[in-house]
Amino acid sequence: MGNEGSFWRTMLPSRRRRDVPEPSPSDGHHVVVIGAGFAGLSLAQTLGSTPFRVTLVDRRNYHLFQPLLYQVATAVLTPGEIAEPVRRIMKRHPNVHVLLGELDGIDPQRREVRIDGDILPYDTLVLATGATHSYFGHPEWEPFAPGLKTLEDARQIRAKVLLAFERAEREPDPAERERLMTFAVIGGGPTGVEMAGAIAGLARQSLARDFRTIDPAAARILLIEAAPRILGPFPEDLSAYAERALQHLGVTILTGRPVEAIDENGITLGGERIATATVIWAAGVAASPVGAMLGVGTDRAGRVRVGPDLSVPGLDGVYVLGDLALAHDEKGRPLPGLAQVAHQEGIYLGKALKARILRGEAPAPFRFRSRGNLAVIGRNEAVVHWETFKLKGFAAWLVWGIAHVYLLVGFQNRLLVSLRWLWSYLTHQYGSRIIDEDTFRRCPGPTKTSVAFRASQVGGRRDRAKGHQGQGSVPDPFRPAERSRHGEQGEV
Ligand SMILES: Cc1cc2nc3c(=O)[nH]c(=O)nc-3n(C[C@H](O)[C@H](O)[C@H](O)COP(=O)(O)OP(=O)(O)OC[C@H]3O[C@@H](n4cnc5c(N)ncnc54)[C@H](O)[C@@H]3O)c2cc1C
Repeated sequence: MGNEGSFWRTMLPSRRRRDVPEPSPSDGHHVVVIGAGFAGLSLAQTLGSTPFRVTLVDRRNYHLFQPLLYQVATAVLTPGEIAEPVRRIMKRHPNVHVLLGELDGIDPQRREVRIDGDILPYDTLVLATGATHSYFGHPEWEPFAPGLKTLEDARQIRAKVLLAFERAEREPDPAERERLMTFAVIGGGPTGVEMAGAIAGLARQSLARDFRTIDPAAARILLIEAAPRILGPFPEDLSAYAERALQHLGVTILTGRPVEAIDENGITLGGERIATATVIWAAGVAASPVGAMLGVGTDRAGRVRVGPDLSVPGLDGVYVLGDLALAHDEKGRPLPGLAQVAHQEGIYLGKALKARILRGEAPAPFRFRSRGNLAVIGRNEAVVHWETFKLKGFAAWLVWGIAHVYLLVGFQNRLLVSLRWLWSYLTHQYGSRIIDEDTFRRCPGPTKTSVAFRASQVGGRRDRAKGHQGQGSVPDPFRPAERSRHGEQGEV
C-alpha cells in the first residue's frame, strides 16, 4: 500500500495517500461501483448478500428517479418523493458499503480509483455515472436554457416557471407581459413532450384562478423540435396523436426548425425571433465525463464502447453500464439511453460476475429485452409502444401511471406519489408550487417592473412608450439617490 504509483504522483503531487476504509470481510472479491443510478443500484442489489465485497459510491446520497423529474419541475411532486437515500435501499445487504463521494481519477494498471482524492483499490470496477446535458457545441446557451437532469435543475425550472407568472402579474407593459408568459421547451422527445404538457396543465388548471391581473390560461407554450415530427422513436401515428393531444392542451408545436440562438430575452428559430423569459432544454445529452478517465477513447457522445459482456476491451476487470456505455443489440444497433436498459444491464452484470467469479462459468452475452416506450402528454393522455402493440389515450395513461409507481424505489414514495396524483387528478391542484428563495434572489425582478408598478399605484406617470427608459420621470423612493436626500446610506 505504501508505494505510490506514477499515475497518482502526477495527479496528486502534494497530497499524502489516504486509503478509503474497505468493508470487511477483507478476503472477498472487491467490486467498486461508481454511480447509484438505475444501473449501479440494480447491480449492487443483485450482488447484495453474496460473498462479494461491494463498495457503492455516489456523489449524491440518494437514488433519483429521473423519469418523474419533470413533475418536480412543474410543481406536481416534491423533490423528496422521487429520491430515496441509497443507504436506506442498501440497509439489508451487509456486504454493500455505501460511500458518499465523487470519483476523480482511475488507475486501471494499479486497479485503484480516487474518490475525492482518497484511494480505493478494486478487483472489479464498474462505472455507471450516467449522462449530462449537451448543447450541441453551444455551452453559452446553458444559463438561459436549463436542462433537466438533477433535482437542482428541476427546482430551478420550477422556480423559473412560477416566477414568470408572478412577474407577469406585476408587469404593466403588454409586450413584456407576453414575453414573460411565453414558455419554450426545446426538444420534442418524451421529456420535452412531458414538460410542455405539464406546463400547459399548470397554466390552464392549477394556476387558472389564482391571479387577478393576468390569465395564466393565456400562456403561450411552444414545443420546438428540429426533426420533422415529435416523439421520433415512436411510430408515426402515435407521434401524430401526441401532436394533436398537445395542441388540444394549447401547446404550439414547431417542428423542422432547429434553434439558432438563445439569450436572456428569447430564442431565434429559422431567422425568426421569439421573445420568451423561460426556455427549457430537453434536446441533447452527452455521457458523463467519467468515461474519458479510462483513457480508451469514447464516441462523439462521450460513451465508452463495451463488449457483449459490458466489459471494456483492453482493460481487465473494468465494466461500463447505463447511459455511459455504448452497448449494442444482437443486430449491432446501439442501445438507447433508457432507464430500462441501465436497469437490465445492472442485473445482468451482477449475475455474470456471480457466474464468472463464484462459479467459474462463462456468462452469456447481454441481451436487452424492451419493455416498450411510454410518453405521457397530460391528464388522461399518453402513448405506449411495444413491438407491434400500440396504445393511446386514457388506457395508455393508466399503463404509464401504474408502470411509474411500480418502478419508483421505496414503498413510501410509491404511496406518496399515488396519493398526490390522486389529489391532483380530483382537484386539478398541484401541490408543490414553491419558489425557492435562493433562485428568487438569483433572478431579481427588473427595476422597470417595480418602478412602473409603484408609479401606477401612487398615480405617477407611467411611460409605456418609453418602457424602462422612462423610469427617470417616476420618483422612486427606494433608489439610493432619493434616499440619500434623507441622509440614508447604502442599499437595501
Ligand atoms: C428528465 C428525464 C426523463 C427521463 N425519462 C425516462 C423515461 O421515461 N423512461 C426511461 O426509460 N428513461 C428515461 N430517462 C433516461 C434514464 O433516466 C436514464 O437512461 C438512466 O437514468 C440511466 O441510468 P444510469 O444508471 O446510467 O445513470 P443515472 O441514473 O443518471 O445515475 C448516474 C449516477 O452516477 C452518479 N455520478 C455521476 N458522476 C459521478 C462521479 N464522478 N462520482 C460519483 N458519482 C457520480 C450520479 O450522481 C447518479 O446518481 C429520463 C432521463 C431524464 C433526464
